[in-house]
Amino acid sequence: MTFDYDLFVIGGGSGGVRAARIASGEYGAKVGLAEESRMGGTCVIRGCVPKKLMVFASAYPEAIAEAREYGWDVTAGGFDWTHFRTRLETELDRLEGAYRNTLKSAGVIIHDERAVIVDAHRVRLASGAEFTTKHILVATGGWPFVPDFPGRELAITSNEMFHLPVLPKRALVVGGGYIASEFACILKGLGVEVSQYYRGAQILRGFDDEARGHVANAMRQSGVDLHCGTDVMRLEKTAPGIRAVATDGTEREFDMVLYATGRRPNTAGLGLEALGLTLGRNGEIPVDKFSQTAVPSVFAVGDVTGRVNLTPVAIREGHAFADTVFGAKPTAFDHTLVASAIFTQPEMGSVGLSEEAAKEQEPIEVYSTAFRPMRTLFAGKQDRVLMKLIVSQSSRKVLGCHIVAPEAGEMIQLAAIAIGMGATKEDFDRTCAVHPTMAEELVTMRKPVRTA
Ligand code: NDP
Repeated sequence: MTFDYDLFVIGGGSGGVRAARIASGEYGAKVGLAEESRMGGTCVIRGCVPKKLMVFASAYPEAIAEAREYGWDVTAGGFDWTHFRTRLETELDRLEGAYRNTLKSAGVIIHDERAVIVDAHRVRLASGAEFTTKHILVATGGWPFVPDFPGRELAITSNEMFHLPVLPKRALVVGGGYIASEFACILKGLGVEVSQYYRGAQILRGFDDEARGHVANAMRQSGVDLHCGTDVMRLEKTAPGIRAVATDGTEREFDMVLYATGRRPNTAGLGLEALGLTLGRNGEIPVDKFSQTAVPSVFAVGDVTGRVNLTPVAIREGHAFADTVFGAKPTAFDHTLVASAIFTQPEMGSVGLSEEAAKEQEPIEVYSTAFRPMRTLFAGKQDRVLMKLIVSQSSRKVLGCHIVAPEAGEMIQLAAIAIGMGATKEDFDRTCAVHPTMAEELVTMRKPVRTA
């Protein structure tokens, strides 16, 4: 049987674009790709990229205050949100264009509309056009989830954060994960009064306890009004803003309420159930290690599979899929030891096991140090950075590394190479320090602070 396409990709985000580009550009497959929104997906359009640019914008007041301590005669004026937003939009347009060009030059045919699956070898576009295809790749990503409660329509999500007409004076951020904690810090840095409500005992659940405690303390010190063990019961519209009635008995007014309470796979109405696929509890598509679903011609990569919801992971899954199906190189992306960074202020970089998870697995040594780094110490600040290694007592391998520090994301990327190669504590010790840096502490911690 001949098909219109060898591969039809639904979703033009990180995973879908990589898969389409490799399948077409490297392996000569005839590839179509449908995207109902803007090319680039969550990462480029409403996630990592605009978020990181906001992180940069929000760090200037601190940098200027520090510069004064270093002798510079500078004062921060006001922050012009409209100016920043306009620049941001221009940059996102540029990036979207770059994504399109990459696809076009790889020979991918782009359809700027929604596509749904009709059967195992057929897709239908919103315009009604139908195509047959040998393989289908679902790479539709995720979407913010807001729980059901009275007044939920008054809350916004991270999707809207980049389009705010004006910055609020008082903001409430609900949630304790990546997005909530990052935006609480961004808004604080931009001069907004920020409160954050998190239902659990400590933010950033799942990360190393000591490291997330360190981040939470630093956020509080910088002025984020963080309330753990607190959730919103209802939101009410008031003349000046939004009243949040919380489980701790408080009723407070805000100008904006941001819900960052997780994301759900974007699978509704795609035609997956009609194919006979049973979706997971949150709507995720179950796949095997080659990203293949129970329907052999249908594959899925990225957040829609609910494995590890990070852009570089989606890219690697998309690439592995193209290598497997079109390059005759069966490749399964290994999801263990994926490093990540949370762009709170200070940042947290993390790879491998937390102390809590590691000690469940085997006897460990913990190396940890918290100290005032040179740059901010000179400026008279109390900020501390945290460097932490978890080491296996038997194999001596470093099982986990956790860093809370400015630029921790940059540091953890490099630590992840060594740890991925199976470096032992003695390998770290043998490495000569780079002085004076913060990261040198990773190779100079001689004695464990505890064993477990
Ligand atoms: P997370 O899963 O990280 O956090 C969701 C938060 O919302 C948790 O604190 C959770 O609490 C809380 N929550 C969930 N449901 C409710 C509810 N019904 N009521 C109140 N609170 C609730 O999701 P995010 O939205 O922050 O981020 C989504 C994904 O995006 C992340 O998993 C991450 O993979 C990715 N991401 C990565 C970034 C990076 O690499 N820097 C940046 C941003 C996003 P509890 O802990 O109790 O479950």
